[in-house]
Amino acid sequence: MKKSAVVLLLAVTMAFTGCGEEKDASQNADTSADEKVDLQGGESDTQSENRTDLGEDANAADANSDVLADGVLNVGTNAEFPPFEFVGDDGEPDGFDMALVKAIAEKLGVEVQVENMEFDSLVASIGSKIDIAIAGMTVTDERKAMVDFSDNYYEAVQYVIVPADSDIAQAADLEGKNIGVQLGTTGDFIVEDIKDATASQYNKAVDAVNDLRNGRVDAVIIDKNPAQVFGEQFKDEVKLFDGESPEFGFEKEYYAIAMPKGDEALAKKINDALAELKSDGTFDELVSQYIGN
Ligand code: GLN
Repeated sequence: MKKSAVVLLLAVTMAFTGCGEEKDASQNADTSADEKVDLQGGESDTQSENRTDLGEDANAADANSDVLADGVLNVGTNAEFPPFEFVGDDGEPDGFDMALVKAIAEKLGVEVQVENMEFDSLVASIGSKIDIAIAGMTVTDERKAMVDFSDNYYEAVQYVIVPADSDIAQAADLEGKNIGVQLGTTGDFIVEDIKDATASQYNKAVDAVNDLRNGRVDAVIIDKNPAQVFGEQFKDEVKLFDGESPEFGFEKEYYAIAMPKGDEALAKKINDALAELKSDGTFDELVSQYIGN
């Protein structure tokens, strides 16, 4: 009698537990489906259609090329990276990348709508909040797993900014140091590989440089052109090292426009426009206007 009561109790408990688990799992699934619907609801109809068709690759590719159908190219950037992007005197994002993407959009016959957001959110926002991202973004294998890139449009490398009186002069000197970087950038990834170094991550590059000037970080690792802009701005307080020098040995990087994965029609249009802007001299004009070297 006692034994069978235990068995019964066990069976009931297991049944309830089993039920509970199943219910939880389906609730989770429902919730995430709802979230997706909500997200799409906030965006254009085109994008919800894309999502619905995602099951079949061919449909998804066709639907994706509708990115330009509404006549607006939603471009994400992080306007904290001069001379490629910065907030202009009128409060709007300006800079080389902004001028380049507007010239591309003009060739495609669409308007540009810029969304200024955190650099670290750009890749994940492609296909929902934004159509493409241009932000001095380096092509990396990790990013390529999530988005496609246009043809490269600019060569870069990381630079090291240190206080003018710093002893840091080579990669080994960065070991164990507190290094300022922009969150989620290639500079941030380099610091991960420096022995015992701590990355102080900022959303705005200028805040990293200001903390260097205040003595809160020992060095800042950031791309060459922004480093040169900050180096010029604070030339009495800081000095720069070219990361490509044998003392540091950082690898060359290439900037490209990040686009939705698998949208070959859009990629072709953007690459063709980029090639035209290079051959008709517009690209070089923008380089001399914004970058100057
Ligand atoms: N080129 C760097 C990267 O892609 C930094 C870009 C940026 O901060 N805007 O990670």
